[in-house]
Amino acid sequence: MPVTPIDRFAERIAPASWQAVDVISDLHLQAGDPATFEAWARYLRQPAAERADALFILGDLFEVWVGDDVLNADASDTADHPFWRACAAALRAFSTHTPVHFLHGNRDFLLGPAGLAACGMQGLSDPTVLVFQGQRWLLSHGDALCLADTDYMRFRAQVREPAWQRDFLAQPLAQREAMARDLRAQSEARKRSTGGDPSLWADVDADAARDWLYHADARTLIHGHTHRPAEHALGGGLQRIVLSDWDASAATPRAEVLRLDARGMRRLPLLP
Ligand code: MN
Repeated sequence: MPVTPIDRFAERIAPASWQAVDVISDLHLQAGDPATFEAWARYLRQPAAERADALFILGDLFEVWVGDDVLNADASDTADHPFWRACAAALRAFSTHTPVHFLHGNRDFLLGPAGLAACGMQGLSDPTVLVFQGQRWLLSHGDALCLADTDYMRFRAQVREPAWQRDFLAQPLAQREAMARDLRAQSEARKRSTGGDPSLWADVDADAARDWLYHADARTLIHGHTHRPAEHALGGGLQRIVLSDWDASAATPRAEVLRLDARGMRRLPLLP
């Protein structure tokens, strides 16, 4: 099975001053889930002594993103717009003391340069190699490696085309929001057809992950997307670390960051 051809992996070399780096993904922030937003806001308000030196967000920060103009839209259009502005303002304030890096997920792949700037974030390609503490960490959202989900891979290839994005963004905001609601309803229906059990959704292809690691000259892949937090040994000293999604209002509330530092990596739970 051919994997995405990538000639040279993008690299981000951490300054020597960084002692700790936080990695998160799949917060799926949305106006209808204030508890998760509150957990996020608490994380952003951490005292300086507890903070990492940089934050890497591996996609699906937002549940949906139909274009950066949601940040300028008239507040009377929909209740969501003030929420997106509040997210951007909170992140921008955080970014004044801690650099924030972002790569796209399948929900927020339309976050563009204006949206990144409004959130104080630096965009990364997917994947990117983070060179930190003498190690090469391969960072990705993870959806590009879920090769068994051929319907999704086809959809992904289509919506990542610049021409598709241009056409989509040229439509009125209200129309884009209606299309996003339709897509989301379809995706929810698909999830219900598997009984909502994430273990039945497509997972990252192990061969493809090994292939990426080999080309990146890295031993550890960190990704989100599958909502199946785990550490998988891939053989030959390679490993795949899966981040948790965030849902502070679930029956079992979850919100955590993966912290990398000189001691290695550990998951820091953010909820009591
Ligand atoms: Mn995702």
